[in-house]
Amino acid sequence: MKPDASFLNACFLGAYAENNDLFERLLVELLRDHIYWRRNFHPDDPPPIPPFAQQDAAYVDFVSRLRHELQMLTARLKRSTPLSSPRYMGHMVSDPLLPGLLAQMITIPYNPNNVSSDASAGTIDLEIDVGLQLARMLGFPHDEAAPNCAFGHLTSGGTVANYEALWILRALKYLPLAIQTAVNVCHLEVTFNGRLLQSYDDWELFNLSVDSAIALAETCRDQMQGDTAKLRAFLEALESNRIETLGCIDFHHARGALKPPVILIAQTAHYSWRKACKLLGLGHNHLRLMPTDGMRMDTDALEQTLSTCASQHVPVLAVVGILGTTEYGTLDPIHEIVRLRNAWNQKGLGFAVHVDAAWGGYLASLFREESGDLRPREQVRQAFHYFPSARVYEAVAALSAVDSVTVDPHKLGYLPYGSGGAFVCRDHRMTNSVAEDVPYIFTDPEHRINQTYRERFRELGRFILEGSKPGAAAAAVYVTHRTLPLDHAHLGQLPQLSIQATEHLYDLMKNMAERLAGLIHVHIPFEPDSNLLCVAFNPAGNTSARHMNAFAYRVYAHLRVDRARPLQAQQFFSSSTLLYPDSLAPTERSRILNALGLIGPNQPGVLDTNSIFVLRHTLMNPWLRDSVNQIDYVAEYCSHLESLLRRELDHPPSGEQNDGTCSGGCHE
Ligand SMILES: *Cc1c(COP(=O)(O)O)cnc(C)c1O
Repeated sequence: MKPDASFLNACFLGAYAENNDLFERLLVELLRDHIYWRRNFHPDDPPPIPPFAQQDAAYVDFVSRLRHELQMLTARLKRSTPLSSPRYMGHMVSDPLLPGLLAQMITIPYNPNNVSSDASAGTIDLEIDVGLQLARMLGFPHDEAAPNCAFGHLTSGGTVANYEALWILRALKYLPLAIQTAVNVCHLEVTFNGRLLQSYDDWELFNLSVDSAIALAETCRDQMQGDTAKLRAFLEALESNRIETLGCIDFHHARGALKPPVILIAQTAHYSWRKACKLLGLGHNHLRLMPTDGMRMDTDALEQTLSTCASQHVPVLAVVGILGTTEYGTLDPIHEIVRLRNAWNQKGLGFAVHVDAAWGGYLASLFREESGDLRPREQVRQAFHYFPSARVYEAVAALSAVDSVTVDPHKLGYLPYGSGGAFVCRDHRMTNSVAEDVPYIFTDPEHRINQTYRERFRELGRFILEGSKPGAAAAAVYVTHRTLPLDHAHLGQLPQLSIQATEHLYDLMKNMAERLAGLIHVHIPFEPDSNLLCVAFNPAGNTSARHMNAFAYRVYAHLRVDRARPLQAQQFFSSSTLLYPDSLAPTERSRILNALGLIGPNQPGVLDTNSIFVLRHTLMNPWLRDSVNQIDYVAEYCSHLESLLRRELDHPPSGEQNDGTCSGGCHE
């Protein structure tokens, strides 16, 4: 049965603030509720701010200054980009969902801090629930009573979730080495997988899989069950021999035979990965960029690199797959990465797999039944012309087998910033390797022995990178996931509409390319996987990439955010990015440059600049095809774009004002 998506009409404030009444009524009602809550706490206490204070000159003066500054603020805010309009198809952002917006606004006055349950009223439990909801969407174990239940929590954004992934995975990969040292120091005898732990060399220990590292830690703990003194001595020895205690330099100095590890990720990596490597002292030289094929990781090249690493004894800390690249929305073949992980683990090269699904994580909702089961591909396909390709389907289905995932609620979760990102790991015990003991915030460690999952994570700050964090953000995500569960019939309707609109845009661009043949080369360099579409333009006969960029940039000048221009004067918004042909595989490079007429067939073709300008569209608005008013904004956009292109072709500027080099890539 086709789900009825008309509930979406109640889900946003709306481009015309159509749901103004609903929004205002709920907001006022629930803010008043907060006021009564304050008054009902010891109502007999006299109000510390006396009523006559309002007559003080200083009070009156303050209020008028406050009003003035707030008005100046709203004046500034009115220059914002109209993200709620179906005329906006630029960056990865849209009108936030009303449930999240309201929940966040009404929670803020309570000011909960989700660093620990002491500071957070009820919102920390909501954050733990959000982690479980996301785990369910991804296919991870999500029964908190299960020993291997997943764990997830919110971060300020995908960037910090990526930092955290690398932080946890590093701790876990190095843990078996520290365990071996601690076992030696404490003169213990531990047998693991049928062998004495002492007999393992550094290479073998580093190459234990994530699951084996967890199992090894549990084996040691079980062996010391009931002997508190022994356990304490062991934990102390473990602590003082971990990489987190010694630092990379001393740790590797002590383990001279172990080379520093690498992290493998596609060239399309978001720049947060470079920052993560710098931050953890791994050095971004050790972030090895894999070539791509159609902006998806080339897994043959990955396999070759793994093989080289294995033969040269270079440890691989993690392979990171990208589910929805920032520039093109393309999905790495996660299933292939998982297959390689399993195969290489057998061959003694064990690495973790993280998926950066900051953009594409919520696409998984489209693949879930309400029961939580994975939908068959044929069923998902029914709503689309092209989506999902077999590769896209397999990639999403394979999420359940990876070790950890980054998902951004502020992107395809349509949530307001604050609940920017989320880090989810397949097994909550992975967080043991980073747990902090902070007695002044948290409970007595002795109580932890029999802690439940929930009691443990109510001390959230012990397990995560960040400290104080907004409980209001957790409330926003929780209420959104409750009102729009993460399955195809509810939240999944949003990515469904946005992918349908993208398929429409794709078809229209192809038509435009045919109409403009002979005048302008209109070329989609990479087939889209989801709801992002990039397109490049070059006037026919032109072979200068600089000239092409200048042309495309002059067209883009009508579509970009320009604070100097009145908003109403702008028809549509898109975004842009730069493509670096020399970073592509040679066949792909010539395919694209050829289609754009920059080089002839079978020519190496040296360009006069190293990048080409590409128009980028992110389609998130559910009303891009307004059936009630019969306005097809996607089609209107395409005719607008076509007229801009024709106009630019007919009226080239006298002098070159801009060669297109000033327009950087997108930094979402
Ligand atoms: C957006 C994005 C990020 C960074 O997320 P922020 O929320 O902006 O910090 C990381 N990786 C990918 C693939 C992204 O699209």
